[in-house]
Amino acid sequence: MASPPGTPQQLQLPHGPLSYTLVRSQRRSIGLEVSSAGLTVRAPLRASQVAIERVLHDKARWIADKLLHMHARQAAQTRIVWQPQTQLPYLGGTLHLQLHPAAPRGGEVLAIGPGQWALHLPCSAQAGSSEIRALTWAWWLRQARQLLTERLQHYAPLLGVQWRSLRLSNARTRWGSAHSDGRIMLNAKLLHYRLPVLDYVVAHELAHLHEMNHSPRFWAWVAQVCPEHRQLRAELRQQAAPQW
Ligand SMILES: [Zn+2]
Repeated sequence: MASPPGTPQQLQLPHGPLSYTLVRSQRRSIGLEVSSAGLTVRAPLRASQVAIERVLHDKARWIADKLLHMHARQAAQTRIVWQPQTQLPYLGGTLHLQLHPAAPRGGEVLAIGPGQWALHLPCSAQAGSSEIRALTWAWWLRQARQLLTERLQHYAPLLGVQWRSLRLSNARTRWGSAHSDGRIMLNAKLLHYRLPVLDYVVAHELAHLHEMNHSPRFWAWVAQVCPEHRQLRAELRQQAAPQW
């Protein structure tokens, strides 16, 4: 979804190789887009490889500038430092990690204010960063499965589709995917975002059970349950999730 299904490609340019993802669809012109997923080239179904590469040569400087800018932004992006007081973006608010040797196995979350949660992790105050990270991730995955399952169950009847199974992923750039047989993959890190953003991804993947493409008909399904999908999609692109 956020990174659309496409074919990875590489082109030799005078200053080095350029990797990109080629997505063909029913459109009239060749379009370029640089995101955290890298360079995406959108091309008409019948555009020749030569025509595509000509555009890449012509726009090489623009692409290089954009990629540089994107990499600088990613380098500046937060990397989680795992320590007793770590805070994580969580459902549009903040999750505060707290080490409590007596906390229930698996951890326990408590609402401590609007958009504020404390996650009590069952470990000693001397726990090291890898233990804190592992306990948090185990809790996070359970939380993700529960919440994403609930959202799938909410949206599937609204869209008139049936999903079969949910697999959680931890990919860097891909937020979800859907298989025509009803298997859904969603990124556990969606829980870093506020609920409407997460819901947009859920609706997007379920809509693929109607249309396995990004055609106007596909977007009409998404819009039916998620009228603000454009803004939400932009939000997902603009705010990178922190690196674990
Ligand atoms: Zn999609």
